[in-house]
Amino acid sequence: MEKTLVLIKPDAFARHHAGDIIKRYESEGFRILAMKLLKMDERLASIHYAEHIGRPYYKDLVGFMTSGPLIAMVLEGEDAIARVRKINGKTNPKDAEEGTIRKEFATSGRRNAVHASDSPESAAREIAIFFNQTEIYDGTYHVEADD
Ligand code: ADP
Ligand code: MG
Repeated sequence: MEKTLVLIKPDAFARHHAGDIIKRYESEGFRILAMKLLKMDERLASIHYAEHIGRPYYKDLVGFMTSGPLIAMVLEGEDAIARVRKINGKTNPKDAEEGTIRKEFATSGRRNAVHASDSPESAAREIAIFFNQTEIYDGTYHVEADD
């Protein structure tokens, strides 16, 4: 089982697509282990997107990511890191495959609806940026029978 960090970015959240996006992950069988609503500030953006500092699009990226609230969540599942990125689709919706979240909800290569970790190392790093250990559910999912 693998964990990955997903962000529903400010564009998708503001356009009321959070539920549609969460539903996609749930219908693929991923478990939600943590979830919160927050607004990024420039400092948090610079930590999360540290590897992009200095790139030509960095300033716009930070402007976008700090423009409104977003949802951060930890998903767990088999091969979650690769599978979630596949469900999300390519960075630019022009290149994203039919049926992917970005094909459906992204409006540009920057305003592209979702983020997901790209390796086990970045998943561990990114999960720790957004969540304390006590905020990540580590029990089993249990469905009560209606007696
Ligand atoms: P991904 O989110 O698919 O892993 P990257 O890690 O390459 O993509 O980039 C991080 C984020 O920076 C992208 O999701 C997008 O919001 C933004 N971004 C990347 N490249 C560009 C670009 N050329 N122009 C504008 N924004 C970009
Ligand atoms: Mg990336």
